[in-house]
Amino acid sequence: MLLKSWQKRIFRPECNPGFESLHCVAHLDQDVGQALPYLNAHLGGHSYQTDPPAVTFKVHGRLITVHHDRIAINSLSDEAQADKILDWLQREINHAWDDRANIEPSTRCAPAPQPLAVLKLLPNKAGCGRCGRPTCLVFATLAVQGAVGASDCPELEPEARQALEKYLGEFSLDW
Ligand code: SF4
Repeated sequence: MLLKSWQKRIFRPECNPGFESLHCVAHLDQDVGQALPYLNAHLGGHSYQTDPPAVTFKVHGRLITVHHDRIAINSLSDEAQADKILDWLQREINHAWDDRANIEPSTRCAPAPQPLAVLKLLPNKAGCGRCGRPTCLVFATLAVQGAVGASDCPELEPEARQALEKYLGEFSLDW
């Protein structure tokens, strides 16, 4: 087993301490750097950085970055959610490493959602600001990064919300 344990820290983002969601950083007790190209090939990373190695995944609309020595997770509702994601990642990292003889390591990324495709699914292209963003394009840019989701635009009708959820969901992992 490559990844055995970590020290977890849960906090609110400093840039917006009033924001509802929590962040988590888990400092890993074992270095998982060598496993990252296998993990990326196995799960399909959203982005991959080679030096220092790090792979980012989108899972249920949130961003999770696995560095060689830590894991960062954003948009958490509570600590239990962080534990669930960390347990899932531990299984996936260890599986990718144990099965590396059968996995072609890769630093290529999976296809990513496009801001203009998201923009087309939003109702008011001039921007009404009800989501707290100045324009729909800003919202669309944040949506492809996983920082906001369909439920954050109050102008979306149920059918359009479903279409946006479906589009963004095509690029998101499940655990
Ligand atoms: S609330 Fe929706 S329609 Fe209004 S600016 Fe934000 S994303 Fe655009």
